[in-house]
Amino acid sequence: MPRIVTTSKDAIAEAASILQGGGLVGLPTETVYGLAANALDGKAVARIFEAKNRPQFNPLIVHVPDAKEAEKYVEMNESARAVAAEFWPGPLTLILPRKEGSGISELASAGLPTLAIRVPAHPAAQELLKTSGLPLAAPSANASGEPSATTPRHVADSLGDNIDLILAAGPCAVGLESTVLDLSGDMPAILRPGAITAEDLEPLLGPVSHDTGTHDKPKSPGLLLKHYAPSIPVRLKAVDVEEGEALLAFGSIKFMGVKGGGAAKDLPDNRIRNLSESGDLTEAASNLFSYIRELDNPDFAGIAVMDIPDTGLGLAINDRLKRAAAGR
Ligand code: AMP
Ligand code: MG
Repeated sequence: MPRIVTTSKDAIAEAASILQGGGLVGLPTETVYGLAANALDGKAVARIFEAKNRPQFNPLIVHVPDAKEAEKYVEMNESARAVAAEFWPGPLTLILPRKEGSGISELASAGLPTLAIRVPAHPAAQELLKTSGLPLAAPSANASGEPSATTPRHVADSLGDNIDLILAAGPCAVGLESTVLDLSGDMPAILRPGAITAEDLEPLLGPVSHDTGTHDKPKSPGLLLKHYAPSIPVRLKAVDVEEGEALLAFGSIKFMGVKGGGAAKDLPDNRIRNLSESGDLTEAASNLFSYIRELDNPDFAGIAVMDIPDTGLGLAINDRLKRAAAGR
């Protein structure tokens, strides 16, 4: 069982140092309990997916203490500033373009050009954000397929020892996930309904679309697919490199050859990325999106991807790679 500690100044300080060291903390917010990691640390973000046992990478919400901090990580527009002034801190998540060079892990936004960001109102979440000085990526603190956790006990039962510390602060006030509002397109759109409704937002924004799709076909994941597809072919389970291809490697490439002659290890620097030379899936997950992007170059005939084991985080990595291979 993970340690559950009542929120106090000491507990917050301990949680902050766990986060700074790349660990995971169960965090009370006004919506549901979050499973928090340093959003600037790709490996820590990868551990979130590992802990939740999620077979897919979905984009996470990044939590910051105030709107001023949000400006560091996303391009706030006029609409965003207006709703932030009115509803932050509170259960409203904004989807906005990622800011260039912000340092937020690509895995946190699952390779998307946009980022989900929110300022939570819960005092424990506020304290932890300020004490750690870190933007915190945090999905709901439950194992994949289980309902969102609204009590510390529920977090412990669902995630077990996959989490380093749980900050306890009683049951969540809202008990419902935040409203997800996309302000990155031409028209404001609610992608996930929550405590703040279209009627609440329209006085500030004008018409807000709230076609969130159906349960079987939710709108936001559907939109993700097309973003993932590189512009050149992706070939999976490659055992060698075809002429003109770039290589996305995993593990040792000592014995890998290039058709037509030569060794993979002698490919020019821009034609090879190794997700993890030591075959570590956490490291591989943290590098996945940036490396795909770096190899997605029209000068290459395609991207050859080495076999990645279908266990643990490998499931989510392979899910993403299969979409990249199929989705052009
Ligand atoms: P959770 O982390 O469990 O609260 O879920 C986060 C929600 O935000 C999911 O419904 C995601 O699909 C959505 N989301 C996060 N980032 C993005 C993004 N960049 N674009 C669209 N939807 C997003
Ligand atoms: Mg969830």
